[in-house]
Amino acid sequence: MKRLVLLGGGHAHVKVLAELARRPLVGWDVHLVSPYRRQIYSGMLPGWVAGHYPIESCAINLNTLAADARVAFHETTGAGVSPAINEISCSDGTRLRFDLLSIDTGSLPAIDQLPGSLEHALPIRPIEEFVSAWPGIVDRMLSRCRRFDLVILGAGAAGVELAFAIQYRAMVDGWSHLRITLVGSGALPLDGGPVRQRQQAANLLMQRGVAWQAERRAVEISTDHINFEQGLPLGFDACFVVTGAAAPTWVRASGLATNERGFIRVGPTLQSVSHPQIFAAGDVAAYADNRPKSGVFAVKAGPVLADNLRAVCEGRLPRRWTPQTRALYLISTGNRYAIASWGPWAWGGAWVWYWKDRIDRGFMRRFGTDA
Ligand SMILES: Cc1cc2nc3c(=O)[nH]c(=O)nc-3n(C[C@H](O)[C@H](O)[C@H](O)COP(=O)(O)OP(=O)(O)OC[C@H]3O[C@@H](n4cnc5c(N)ncnc54)[C@H](O)[C@@H]3O)c2cc1C
Repeated sequence: MKRLVLLGGGHAHVKVLAELARRPLVGWDVHLVSPYRRQIYSGMLPGWVAGHYPIESCAINLNTLAADARVAFHETTGAGVSPAINEISCSDGTRLRFDLLSIDTGSLPAIDQLPGSLEHALPIRPIEEFVSAWPGIVDRMLSRCRRFDLVILGAGAAGVELAFAIQYRAMVDGWSHLRITLVGSGALPLDGGPVRQRQQAANLLMQRGVAWQAERRAVEISTDHINFEQGLPLGFDACFVVTGAAAPTWVRASGLATNERGFIRVGPTLQSVSHPQIFAAGDVAAYADNRPKSGVFAVKAGPVLADNLRAVCEGRLPRRWTPQTRALYLISTGNRYAIASWGPWAWGGAWVWYWKDRIDRGFMRRFGTDA
C-alpha cells in the first residue's frame, strides 16, 4: 500500500482530513504527524485571552478528525525531511517513509535576529505554549502590588489583537496595575494595512490606554528589558514576542527549494518546485504568486490541496491555483468591536466583531471542537 503523510495539522490540513473523512483514499495509507492533538485556531485566540471564549471553543480536535478520516495519528514533531529517500524523521525518533508528503506546519515568530527571545520572553508560537504560559503570567501579575509592565513586541495583526484583548480583560477583571505597551517597527501599527485602518488602530490604542511605541527595532531581549537599535531600553515584567513570520530551520536543511526567507517554494499546484512528491500550503509555503503570511491564504489553500493530493494519488493531474490578490482582514479590538480591511478600504464597528465571530465559529463548526 502507498503512503501519504500529512506533516502538521494546520488550516489547510484540517480541510484535507475532513475531505478524507467524507471520501477515503483507496489504496493509500494516510498518516498525520502533529505535536499536539488539537489545533488552536489563531483567529479566536485573542477572543480567549479577552475572555469571550473558553479555550475548547478555539481548538479543532485533530484526534477526532484523524480518527473519522481513518488516518493514523503520530503525536510528535517533524524534525527533518529527506526528499532523496522519501522519509521524514520526528523528534521522538520515529521515521516515516512516504510516497507523497504534504507539509502544513505554519511559521515561527521571527526571532533569529533577536537574542534572548526564548530565554526571557514568550513567543506567541507555538500557540499551545503560549496558552499554557498565559495563566501563570496572570498569576504573577496578580501577586504583584506595584505596577506590572507587559510589553508586546510586534504590531502586526496578532500583536495588535493581543494588546486589545489583554487591555479588555484587564478592564473587566480590574487589573488596574497592569500597563501594556505595544512596540512596532513602523510609524503606525498594522504595517501593510490601509492607512485608514492603521490610524484607527493607533487611535483606539490611545483611547484604551495602551502605550504605543513606534519605529523601534529591537536588537536584544535581556532578563528585564529590551534593547533597541536606537533610543532608550524598555523595561518589562513580561514580554510577548509577536514579530513577523520566519521559516522553520529544518526546511532549509531538507534540500527542498526555498525562497530567500527559507519558505518552501511551491508552484501553482502547491507541489514543491524541486520535489513534486512533496506539497506545501499555508505559512510554510512560498506560493508562486507571493502573498502575505496569513490564515486567509492557508484556509483558501485547503480545498485545492485536498483535491490535488487526491488527484495525484488517483493518477490524475493536479489543478492550478492562484491565491486571491485581496483578502478580508478582521482585527478584533477586545471589546466586541473590530476593524476590517479589504484592499485599500477600511471600516469598523461592533457589527464587524459579530461578523468575525460568525465566520470564526462557522469555521470551527465545520471541523469539530472539544466544546
Ligand atoms: C494571535 C494571532 C492572531 C492571528 N489572527 C489572524 C487573523 O485574524 N487573520 C489571519 O489571516 N491571520 C491571522 N493570524 C496568522 C495566522 O495564524 C497564520 O497565518 C495561520 O495560522 C497559518 O496557518 P498554517 O496552516 O500555515 O499554520 P498553523 O495554523 O500555524 O498550523 C501549523 C500546525 O502545524 C503544527 N506544527 C508546527 N511545526 C510542526 C512540525 N515540525 N511537525 C509537525 N507539526 C508541526 C502546529 O502545531 C500547528 O498545528 C494570527 C496569528 C496569531 C498568532
